[in-house]
Amino acid sequence: MTFAAETGMKTLRELYRIGRGPSSSHTIGVQKACELFLSRFSGADAYGAVLRGSLACTGRGHGTDGIIRDTLGNSVRIEFDTAKEQLAHPNTLDLTAYKDGGEIGANRFYSVGGGAIRIEGEAWAESPDIYRHRNFEQVKSYCMKKDLRLCGYVTETEGTEITEYLCAVWRQMKATVAEGLNREGILPGPLKVQRKARYLYRQKHIDESAETRENRMVCAYAFAAAEQNADGGVVVTAPTCGASGVIPAVLYYMQIKHGFADAEIVKALATGGLIGNLIKANASISGAECGCQAEIGAACSMAAAALTELFEMRIEQTEYAAEVALEHHLGLTCDPIGGYVQIPCIERNAVAAMRAINAWNLSDFLTDTRKISFDLVVETMYRTGKDLPGRYRETGRGGLAKLYKDYAKGKKK
Ligand code: SF4
Repeated sequence: MTFAAETGMKTLRELYRIGRGPSSSHTIGVQKACELFLSRFSGADAYGAVLRGSLACTGRGHGTDGIIRDTLGNSVRIEFDTAKEQLAHPNTLDLTAYKDGGEIGANRFYSVGGGAIRIEGEAWAESPDIYRHRNFEQVKSYCMKKDLRLCGYVTETEGTEITEYLCAVWRQMKATVAEGLNREGILPGPLKVQRKARYLYRQKHIDESAETRENRMVCAYAFAAAEQNADGGVVVTAPTCGASGVIPAVLYYMQIKHGFADAEIVKALATGGLIGNLIKANASISGAECGCQAEIGAACSMAAAALTELFEMRIEQTEYAAEVALEHHLGLTCDPIGGYVQIPCIERNAVAAMRAINAWNLSDFLTDTRKISFDLVVETMYRTGKDLPGRYRETGRGGLAKLYKDYAKGKKK
């Protein structure tokens, strides 16, 4: 079973999902698998769940066991199998149903990123592939022939109802940022990470230029959304929970600064969503599969593309902005300390939001000099992700996660 480069593009409803954090693959996807399994074996009197791969390594920090209990009941037997076995996908979940002591059914689920799931041995799919083109080059030549903007291409493919859905997505993004800006205190978990969004938002820099203020505000909005995610709040996967602060931060900032109408923001979300969909279909948006470049890199690319739509730039400029934003995340590893979507994740959303603005700015000047296509960088990201050792793909076994653990152990001696 393969998960990328063989699937087409589905509706943006599958990319932008409204749900509870902290992890789209470890909570939203797992919850969906459990609900589906429950509907199939509702007559069971007991359930068992075995988490494998990344789900086993970082499931506790990501709240995976909690979401399984919430869905299948408190009596479900949960096993964390951290054996380094070869799996078809690093986020693997085996569910078994029992009745009167005997097994009545079992399914192996893969949580493939952004809350999407697959079932081993089944062609089951939440929704069909609806986009007729497979990569940016094909989309671009079609749009240029028809004189269509990318957001228009999304509406042409999905129907005008997608606009209503994207309005709901934008409402939730704004609500998440606003709520995050109002909250203070410590995030759940042993790291005792302090919320910082409100502080950033209120604390004026000692010598604040317009540029420094922009940086502070964009970062405050990104922290706000990412902290809400870390706290299990309602967020929009964009394209995942871990990276859910990047797009809201840049769009929230631009709406306040320039007074864009919600309808204009929604068009930007459509274009950014298309970029995310292309990355998802041709590579991956899963940190467990390809590292953080697939989550934060994809979010940054989507945000940069969204900005070009907001400012009605050319399709080539959208491609350049999306390409630059992804290219400069290549090789970025996923190493959340303790498996919590907090360090480095929260700060990383803020840095990526600023990088999206940087990529968008460059696209205004340098588009016609470029040598790298968006499709090329997407393929590079996928191959780089596959080359990354497993310890850098959401297992909490490498990078910051490993060194911090060693450091904390040393301090205790
Ligand atoms: S390091 Fe990146 S990919 Fe990994 S959990 Fe954090 S945000 Fe997600």
